[in-house]
Amino acid sequence: MAGSAPEPVQCYPGAQRSLWLAYALLLLAGLGAILVNLAQVLDSKQIYLQEADKANANLAYSIAQHAQESIKEADIVLSGLVDLLERGENSPEAINQLLVTYKQRAQQLAGIFIYDAEGRWRYYTNPPPTTHANNSDRAYFQLHRHSVSRDTQVSNPIRSRSTGEWILPISRRLNDREGRFAGVVLASIRVDHFREFYKHFDVGEQGTILITMNDGTIIYRRPESVGGTGESMAGSFMFQSDLKRSPVGLGASISVLDGVDRVYAYRALDHFPLVVAVSMSRNEVLAEWERKAAVVGSLVAVLVLALMVVGGGLVTRMRKRMAAAQSIARENRELFRLATRDSLTGISNRRQFDQALQVEFHRAATVNTPLALVMIDVDYFKAFNDRYGHQAGDVCLKAVSDVLRRFKVRAGDTVARYGGEEFAVLLPHTDLAGARLVAERIRQAVYEQGLIHSGNPFGVVTVSVGAHSQVPGPDDRPEQLLECVDAALYRAKSSGRNQVCLAEPTP
Ligand code: GH3
Ligand code: MG
Ligand code: MG
Repeated sequence: MAGSAPEPVQCYPGAQRSLWLAYALLLLAGLGAILVNLAQVLDSKQIYLQEADKANANLAYSIAQHAQESIKEADIVLSGLVDLLERGENSPEAINQLLVTYKQRAQQLAGIFIYDAEGRWRYYTNPPPTTHANNSDRAYFQLHRHSVSRDTQVSNPIRSRSTGEWILPISRRLNDREGRFAGVVLASIRVDHFREFYKHFDVGEQGTILITMNDGTIIYRRPESVGGTGESMAGSFMFQSDLKRSPVGLGASISVLDGVDRVYAYRALDHFPLVVAVSMSRNEVLAEWERKAAVVGSLVAVLVLALMVVGGGLVTRMRKRMAAAQSIARENRELFRLATRDSLTGISNRRQFDQALQVEFHRAATVNTPLALVMIDVDYFKAFNDRYGHQAGDVCLKAVSDVLRRFKVRAGDTVARYGGEEFAVLLPHTDLAGARLVAERIRQAVYEQGLIHSGNPFGVVTVSVGAHSQVPGPDDRPEQLLECVDAALYRAKSSGRNQVCLAEPTP
C-alpha cells in the first residue's frame, strides 16, 4: 500500500518444528533403509536354506532309488535261485555257472553263496577262506533257520569271509520239499558300490551322504573321516526324533559324529529296512549369503552414512540460515519499533501518525466512512517544567500518554505523540458525536489523574482538546482535517483551557 510502513520481517512460526521434522525424516529415511535391507537379507537367508533343503531332498530321493534298485536286483537273483534249488532240477555245475553269470551281470554284488542247512558252503562265486568254512554263525543264517518267513532279509553290514571287504548281506531261506529249513541263499552287495556312486555328488566340503540300516548302523558315510561302516548313529537327532515322526523329511541339527551344524533331508526306503540321508553344512550353505549380505550391508551403511552426513549438513545449514533470518527479523522488528515509536512514551511517533493519517484518510474516502481526529495539548506545560524540572515534565508526559493509550480500543486506532506536549488520537469509523465523547473522556481522565500542577489555575495537570470528524470527499486532503482540529484546539486554549472544542463547520 502506498505510503504504508514497511512490514517487519516475520519469523516463520513453525521453523523449529520444520527443522525437527527434517531431522526426523532424515533419521526415518536412514532407519527405513536399514530395516528394508535387513528384511531383505533375512529373507534371502531363508531362500538359501530352502534351496539347500530342496537340493538335499532331491539327492536323498535319487540315492534312495539307487539303493532300492541295487537291493532289488540282488533280490531277483535270490528268488530265481531259491526257485531253481527248491525244484532240484539242475546239476551242481549248472548252478555254479549260473552264479558266475549273475555276478557278472550285477556289478554291485561282491558274491553269491548258497549254504546248506548246517551252514556249509555248497555253491559260491568266491572260494571259501578254508575248506571247512561254515557260515552258520552269521546273523542272517540264524534268522532264516529260526523263521519260516520266505521274505528277503537285508542284514547289517559285515566283513566278507571270502574277500575281507565290507558287504551288505541280502538273503533268503531255502526249504526242502517238506518245508523244512534247507539252507540260505546269499547275495552280498559291496559297500564300495555305494562309495563309487556317492562320489559323483557335490555336497560341499562338510556335506554328507549317508546310507544306514534303520537301527542306525552305518552302511556307508561320506566323508569317511568319521562314522565308518558298522558304527552306529542311533543316538543322532535324525534317529531319535525325525524318523519317529515321519519316514521322509527335512531336518537341521548338530552332528553327533563331528559336531558340524547341518541341514539335511532323509528318507527311509519303501521296501527295505534302510535309511538314506543327505546333508550340507549350514556354514557352507550360508557362506555366499553371508558374503552378499556383508557387501549389501556395507553399501547400505555407506549410503545411510552419506545420507546422514549430507542431509544432516543441509539441515544444519538450513537451521543456521533460519537462525540468521530470525535474528535479522528480530533486528528489523526493533528497527521498525525505533522508527515508529516515540522513545519517551512508547506510543506512536509523529512519523507513524503522519502515515496512519494518510492511510486512514484515503481509506475513509474510498469506503465513505467518517474519520475522527482528536488533538490534545497539555496546559501550562512550560510552567510545569519551570516549576518541577524537565525530568518531572517527562514523567508527566508519560502519565498523559498512559491515559491516552486506554483510548486505543480498535486495531485501526492510532495514539501518537504529535510533538512536545501535544498528542493526537486518530479514530477511523468514528463520527462527530463519537469524537466529542472520546475527547471529553480524555480531558476528564487527565484531570482526574490529579497530577499536582500549581502553575495551572485548576491546581492539577489538565489538557485542552480539539476534535473533528468528517467523511472525506475525493478532493479533500488530510491536512485540512489537521488544520480544522488545530483551530478547534486553539479555541479550547483561548476559551480557558481544560476543555473540548469541536471544529467549526466549514462555510
Ligand atoms: P499552553 O497552555 O498555551 O499550551 O502553554 P504551554 O506552556 O503548555 O505551551 P508552550 O508551547 O509555551 O510550552 C511547551 C513546553 O513544553 C516547552 C517545552 O520546553 C516543553 N517541552 C516540549 N517537549 C518536552 C519534553 O519532551 N519534555 C519536557 N519536560 N518538556 C518538553
Ligand atoms: Mg501546552
Ligand atoms: Mg503546545
